[in-house]
Amino acid sequence: MAGPDIKAPEMREYSQIPALQPGAMAATKSFVANEKVQEELGFPGTLVDDWHDKAIGKMGELLGKYRSLKVFMDACVHCGACSDKCHYFLGTGDPKNMPVARQDLMRSVYRRHFTAAGKVFPKLVGARELTREVLDEWYSYYYQCSECRRCSVFCPYGIDTAEVTMAAREILDSVGYGQKYTNEIIGKLHKIGNNLGLPGPALANTLEGLEEDVLEDSGVAVRYPLDVKGAEVLLITPSADFFAEPHIESLIGYGKVFHAAGISWTLSSKASEAGNFGMFIGNYEQLKKIAMRVREAALELGVKRIVVGECGHAWRVAYSFWNTLTGIGEGAKDPFAVQLQSQLDHRYRQPMHICELTWDLIRQGALSFDKSANDHRIVTFHDSCNVARGSRMGDHAGGQFEIPRNIIRAVANHFVEMAPGTTHEQTFCCGGGGGILTDDLLDLRIKGSLPRMETLNQVAEGQGVNFMATICAICKAHFTKILPYYGFKMSMVGGVHQLVSTAIKLGDK
Ligand code: SF4
Ligand code: SF4
Repeated sequence: MAGPDIKAPEMREYSQIPALQPGAMAATKSFVANEKVQEELGFPGTLVDDWHDKAIGKMGELLGKYRSLKVFMDACVHCGACSDKCHYFLGTGDPKNMPVARQDLMRSVYRRHFTAAGKVFPKLVGARELTREVLDEWYSYYYQCSECRRCSVFCPYGIDTAEVTMAAREILDSVGYGQKYTNEIIGKLHKIGNNLGLPGPALANTLEGLEEDVLEDSGVAVRYPLDVKGAEVLLITPSADFFAEPHIESLIGYGKVFHAAGISWTLSSKASEAGNFGMFIGNYEQLKKIAMRVREAALELGVKRIVVGECGHAWRVAYSFWNTLTGIGEGAKDPFAVQLQSQLDHRYRQPMHICELTWDLIRQGALSFDKSANDHRIVTFHDSCNVARGSRMGDHAGGQFEIPRNIIRAVANHFVEMAPGTTHEQTFCCGGGGGILTDDLLDLRIKGSLPRMETLNQVAEGQGVNFMATICAICKAHFTKILPYYGFKMSMVGGVHQLVSTAIKLGDK
């Protein structure tokens, strides 16, 4: 149910550019991480005394390390093409949530300290000193960006605001000004093994209970195995899949696919989390440390294939970074990466998305479905940002859009697209990605969901859509909370493998 004191903006028939409301979200600030949370990740516990010099030093380091960041600082011509493309601007009207303005928070400081004109004539070139006020503004507005990269699709220079946001968060962490939500979750993952803090024995119990439930519902003994040495497939999935609704419905679906296809598989208590929040804070060391658990689990279990469940940013990390970070896929050259390379079966893509696996099986005729089992659903598909704009699936460009839709069409009779310009590479963020999925930012999340809710409303009213499928754990968690604020049922969102689970015929092949 919607909370009493936050009201969603009114949905319009067509999205409109809002009237400017300067400062509307200036006071919106997610909780700052405490000393313990910060120090566990190796960051200063609180804002260091010499934060100004340290922040400028870190900025210089990042500009040297990432050439893209320097290009992004220099290349913007303020054409304005990105200005109305951010869902947080469209939902809040705050001009500082325009992507170009978000970049300028850092660009102005960059000009002051890293350009000759900014050092000599700061006012003339829009250069600013990094004051405490500016630092606070960074914290507010860089944690009002979900790193969704929609704005970059429309920028003629390909400037990626998400990378600027990551750099800003990295600088903030380095001076002891981190975000509670993201950093606490990373700490939990290091201590317990997953973002939700579910210890190994509890995970084993949950999976046993799931086997009993599926047996009762379907009459078939589908297994949800944990830590099985010698299994063919290691499935790395977001921990929300283990007990959150609707996520668990997709986990049930993955198990049924493996069962129906006769593929041995296992989950891992060591790598019981696909999510990698190291990306959200732009921190390479955390990104790598979190990813390494997957490699260790794969080596220990001796698996031949690594498959990733429905999680948007996890798939981006797996698809784009696991190769050089861990040696899953070609890239890293250290002895363990080489060992893993020789262990994995290269007849399959490594890593592989669960949708790729299911679609390959469907094409081979290895699965059969009763599509009418989904006839109570009129389905639409919400492309998740990190899958759409940060990865691929299959063998050709656009596979990340086609494959999930192909699966939906194979398992359900009624599928409807949302408005062009709001799907595929131009999809709107759900409103809760990139480190924003916290209740201290609920107001921002509700407002930032407006563009997606408006397009959903069009197909709900026009074509009777009553189910929005997605392949991201964050989208699912965010939408279940947000949908009621816009008058929709929270059960309206679910996974692609939830639809697969409903229609799959077990024991047919
Ligand atoms: S990356 Fe997404 S959230 Fe961030 S400014 Fe661009 S459109 Fe907005
Ligand atoms: S579209 Fe690109 S060049 Fe134009 S204002 Fe936005 S970031 Fe700058």
